Amino acid sequence: MVKQAKNAISPTRDEDYPMWYQEVVKASEMAEKSPVRGCMVIKPWGYALWENIVSTMDGMFKDTGIKNAYFPLFIPLSYLEKEAEHVEGFAKECAVVTHHRLEAGEDGKLVPAGKLTEPLIVRPTSETIIGESMSRWTSSYRDLPILLNQWANVVRWEMRTRIFLRTSEFLWQEGHTAHATEAEARERTMMMLDVYTRFVEEYLAMPVVRGRKTASERFPGAVDTVCIEAMMQDKKALQAGTSHFLGQNFARSSDIRFQNADKKEEFAWTTSWGTSTRMIGGMIMTHADDDGVIMPPRVAPAHVVLLPIARKEEDQRKVMEYTRSLADALAVRTYHGSRIRVEIDDRDTGGARAWDWIKKGIPLRAEIGPRDMENDCVFLGRRDEAPGKKVSLPREDFINTIDTILDDIQNNLFNRALAFKRENTIEIDDTEEFKALFTAPDENSIHGGFVMAHWCGAAECEAKIKEDLSVTIRCIPFDSKTEQGRCICCGNASGRRVLFAKAY
Ligand code: AMP
Repeated sequence: MVKQAKNAISPTRDEDYPMWYQEVVKASEMAEKSPVRGCMVIKPWGYALWENIVSTMDGMFKDTGIKNAYFPLFIPLSYLEKEAEHVEGFAKECAVVTHHRLEAGEDGKLVPAGKLTEPLIVRPTSETIIGESMSRWTSSYRDLPILLNQWANVVRWEMRTRIFLRTSEFLWQEGHTAHATEAEARERTMMMLDVYTRFVEEYLAMPVVRGRKTASERFPGAVDTVCIEAMMQDKKALQAGTSHFLGQNFARSSDIRFQNADKKEEFAWTTSWGTSTRMIGGMIMTHADDDGVIMPPRVAPAHVVLLPIARKEEDQRKVMEYTRSLADALAVRTYHGSRIRVEIDDRDTGGARAWDWIKKGIPLRAEIGPRDMENDCVFLGRRDEAPGKKVSLPREDFINTIDTILDDIQNNLFNRALAFKRENTIEIDDTEEFKALFTAPDENSIHGGFVMAHWCGAAECEAKIKEDLSVTIRCIPFDSKTEQGRCICCGNASGRRVLFAKAY
């Protein structure tokens, strides 16, 4: 491999974090901007990651009794309007379809024609359209619970977009359930947050803080929103998943009624919960370094790339055969319930070839040259270690221990991220100290962190901090202990610390 003094990604994280992120995504060939405003093209390497995310999460949902279904992309405006808070929350981000065909105008150019009697909204989320079905499907308590999920795309016309983290169209799953009792719906809300926590921590290797959103950050129309928040390497927070207890609000507006065991009519209790392609952005911002993406092995599109190296023609065929047989031997091994995913890269691009895979974040790179072949060894590099650090490993040992090596990388990534989150989570009681931490000479320099500070509960204080410092209450962590203190904004009494941070 060619020695590279510099890092593969320029600028580095310290030099310009937002630009570093863009360059990392580009160099990984996971996704790119599209000609359509705010919408991305997900390339095969990025999409294979998404497919792994989908299949794992899908299995976890089904283990809790959830079944998949599919509902229309278009929502009649009148449906969205049924829930007042809901429509108000989403109105500013709606893509609206008003016509259903094109006609040649006077100058010959095509113009929309055939005005719809009722505009259709491209779904920003599907509570109202799924509610309509649930209403028809529910007459007795015996019809409940309804436990649904859909994998789909949604559109929210975002003003400031960033690949994966915030796009106008994004891929997601949205779960929707209806229950006969409040207790059961609340239990489901927490159960799905637990699934999200497990997936994000155990697969994406991102440690999270679990907690409850304040009223102002709640999902429009929800009674209660719980969430998981992760820390990125610039110390900003990223909301990685949300689960909503919707009370009877949407059941009332969509008329989801049932007869209980005593033959009395009641409204159902509903929940909804979602995670999106944003998780990929979070995964990148948690683990990637100045050489590019680092994929956690459990979700990586491929676990290992084999790089045959043979300069002399007479060696080429032999090394290639050896490489293929190694690939076959690896491909029948498993890691964490999946077959080992192997790539062979025999392109003749010299050192650039290994760097391409480093930038893509593949967990393992195994070089195989004539000398390695003679010794029945591979020359192995791990993505969680420096690019130059490689070890020679006997072929059989490599095949037999690849699952252990991958698990070691998976755990190492999680532990590194956990240590970073712990180092950058602090308690602050002094208002000036709080302001200073969140104020930087220029917005792009890394500053801030997760701050546990007291808050009196007043929406005005929350709004003022947001206005003055662009800092929000990410959540009221479930594990924040009750203790007496003074609100970081107004000084009034407070009984609990909450989590403040700048956020994506
Ligand atoms: P919500 O329905 O608003 O609770 O969002 C469900 C999930 O989608 C959350 O995990 C959000 O972080 C994520 N999400 C919301 N808006 C976007 C966006 N514009 N791009 C990507 N993900 C998003």
